[in-house]
Amino acid sequence: MKALVTGGAGYIGSVTTELLLDSGHDVIVFDNLERGHRAAVDRRARFVKGDLRDRKKIAAVMAREKPDAVMHFAAYALVGESMDKPETYFGNNLVGGVNLAEAMLAAGVGKIVFSSTCATYGQPQRTPITEDEPQRPINPYGESKLLLEKALDWYRRIRGMQTVFLRYFNACGATKRFGEDHDPETHLIPIVLQAALGKRDRVTIFGEDYDTPDGTCLRDYIHIVDLAQAHILALTSAVSGAFNLGNGNGYSVKEVIETARQVTGHPIPAAAGPRRPGDPARLLAAADKARTELGWKPKHPDLRAIIESAWAWHRAHPDGYADKRPERNG
Ligand code: UDP
Repeated sequence: MKALVTGGAGYIGSVTTELLLDSGHDVIVFDNLERGHRAAVDRRARFVKGDLRDRKKIAAVMAREKPDAVMHFAAYALVGESMDKPETYFGNNLVGGVNLAEAMLAAGVGKIVFSSTCATYGQPQRTPITEDEPQRPINPYGESKLLLEKALDWYRRIRGMQTVFLRYFNACGATKRFGEDHDPETHLIPIVLQAALGKRDRVTIFGEDYDTPDGTCLRDYIHIVDLAQAHILALTSAVSGAFNLGNGNGYSVKEVIETARQVTGHPIPAAAGPRRPGDPARLLAAADKARTELGWKPKHPDLRAIIESAWAWHRAHPDGYADKRPERNG
């Protein structure tokens, strides 16, 4: 199949593009390279530099390419930043997503696999979280993703678009070629590995007084290759709907740091700090629906294996992607 992948130069988009190509699909990557990296775009994909806020551009690319489906990753994805700059999040994630969907409708492209997030649930009432948990986001990031889910769901109901919402839990790990390179980095595993590489003095643990076994937050860490596989299954399936993607295993911040110490052989100094605003104590997925309806089976649930894959990538790319700002570097 021919897939147009927005955000294919980003972390999850780059790995999904790699796996799509490995499975024999044809891929066009559409990315503005604001936060993604040209070097993260698989050479087998065709690349179009463009921004979803530019309606004419995405409409022209969609009309020209007429892909079988769109995989939509392009978005800002930092909770804290969204609290400082809500307009940036609604402007890009929501308006950009609506522009994308309009371009699809105009070109007769009838299928979208959308990167959504467990942040649409906000502070969950029950854990593990099922897809029918009330969606009450507690930050503009989660709200921007939820609003786009809602708009797309109306396009499904009225226009017959096939819509798959993949609600990720904590994406992590790497393939041999593509890994996580954000600037600034805010995610736990890359931060811990940067400390192992000597690029940070220490890791700050955001709160040790949660109601969890060791007092630190529990998260559901899901390997990027497993996430990418779910997209490929969604591409070839006829279903519409929302699917949580996680392992259902919770690991605490302290467990992540301790596992990284074992994997890297580095001491990784860590110190307790205050809680980070907006962090729920536990976020764990019930992903039975993805298993039953998409036939998804995560193959890399083990935290140690996840961290080993990320460590291999970070050691091979201590400065991330070399062409961090290709436009400025010429
Ligand atoms: N975390 C931490 N120190 C850091 C970064 C993250 O203690 O420097 C914690 C954070 O509070 C959360 C967990 O690690 O409980 C995972 O955070 P991350 O930002 O990786 O993902 P999130 O769960 O926010 O999507």
